Amino acid sequence: MTPGEALAAECARYAAMGWMRGTSGNLSVVVARDPLRLAVTVSGRDKGELTADDVVVVDAEGRTDDPLKVPSAEAGLHGRIAAVSGAGAVVHVHALAPVVAAEYWPEGVELRDLEMLKGFGRSAHDDLVVVPVVPNDQDMRVLGDAFEAGYREDVPALIVARHGVYVWGEDLYRARHRLECLEWLLRFKIETRRDQR
Ligand SMILES: [Zn+2]
Repeated sequence: MTPGEALAAECARYAAMGWMRGTSGNLSVVVARDPLRLAVTVSGRDKGELTADDVVVVDAEGRTDDPLKVPSAEAGLHGRIAAVSGAGAVVHVHALAPVVAAEYWPEGVELRDLEMLKGFGRSAHDDLVVVPVVPNDQDMRVLGDAFEAGYREDVPALIVARHGVYVWGEDLYRARHRLECLEWLLRFKIETRRDQR
């Protein structure tokens, strides 16, 4: 499977889950490490209908020399995350639960003692996971700096308040499983919250 085929197939799955509404969200895979190059979904297309051609190769800052295709404006943050974390795939969706969670816990969302944490690469017991939250910004360097300031190797996710969530992993398959589990965990956290933080 080419990177374009893999990204289109993953986008179709996320779109079906309602996580890529109105052309939002973007996915990437690392295609070269030194220098860093990522295949990222193009801007503005319906993510449920992407083809293998709807991807563009960008550098670590999200820039391309492709004369025709426009990468997602958020490609620069994908590059930063891949560079800092060493991930092979980065997924960004506008799922609702992460954004609602960031409203309640803008300093970071604490998760613990939940079986689904195993799907996020952590322990089901006595393991406090804090998913970082950063303010939204249209400048990917500002977002990238905020991400890097709060980066922890054992938390492969970043919530951008009032915007969406980034999750990463070795490949698209593992990143998807982490995102699916994290979305469940955040829904649980929101639905079981009390008035205090
Ligand atoms: Zn976004």
